[in-house]
Amino acid sequence: MGNPAISLRVPLVPSGLASILRRPGKKGQVTRIVRVAEALERLYGKRRRRGRRSPPLDTLIGTLLSQNTNDQNSYRAWIELKKKYPAWEAVAVAPWQSIAAAIKVGGLKNQKARRIQEILRRIHRDWGEYSLDALRGKTNDEVMEYLLTMKGVGEKTAACVLVFSLNRDIFPVDTHIHRICNRLGLVATKTAEDTFRSMDSMVPAGKSYSFHVNLIQFGREVCRASRPLCRDCPLFDECVFVLKDAFAEIPASAGRKSNRNFLITEHLSETRN
Ligand code: SF4
Repeated sequence: MGNPAISLRVPLVPSGLASILRRPGKKGQVTRIVRVAEALERLYGKRRRRGRRSPPLDTLIGTLLSQNTNDQNSYRAWIELKKKYPAWEAVAVAPWQSIAAAIKVGGLKNQKARRIQEILRRIHRDWGEYSLDALRGKTNDEVMEYLLTMKGVGEKTAACVLVFSLNRDIFPVDTHIHRICNRLGLVATKTAEDTFRSMDSMVPAGKSYSFHVNLIQFGREVCRASRPLCRDCPLFDECVFVLKDAFAEIPASAGRKSNRNFLITEHLSETRN
């Protein structure tokens, strides 16, 4: 059988009456989330936090660097920045052009350099130091509320600070997790922010970290934005994506697995002085 003509402009959210009718209520969704999370743990293992946790300010800046680029490039930008300016105070007072030159491999260098400096100066005004350690005693809502007042910081970035530095049980959602959760019918949302709010209330306690990390790997290797590898997908029967049968016609050799499993947020502490 020949390959079907499949547009690379893949719709994000399954559409049509069939997928709506197949979507269960909230209790059913929680059961499905557990089933999907367990299937991914069988595939990739139960993920636990690696090594020591990075300080919340490091995770905030590292996650900001990772916006609009991949984790490898943003980690290179992070390494260059730390090499040039080991202390946050030095970053705050340096010419922004010099910061931009250090982080250029991560893309959007001018915008990110200015935002990083604005954030550092604001934190110093608020807390009298270049540190967010004061957030350790705050609730999740308080941390979120504070971080979201900063320009360039969205819910995903704030949630990463909570998970990767403050050890909180919360489920960050980036564009990839948003895409997969919709294809699987775990949510029916238009934005990653809406997916975050829906999923965070349904992911069972203690499952957030492992589920988040495994979904990122799954999105890189199998359920990619374009040309998902539906033929080999272990979640095929769970999936409500309207094009899954068409994509399953594509031979596995037509897709190339990225096999990338690198998260910048798991490596920031390795560069601490
Ligand atoms: S069947 Fe395809 S679209 Fe559905 S989860 Fe698997 S790879 Fe993604």
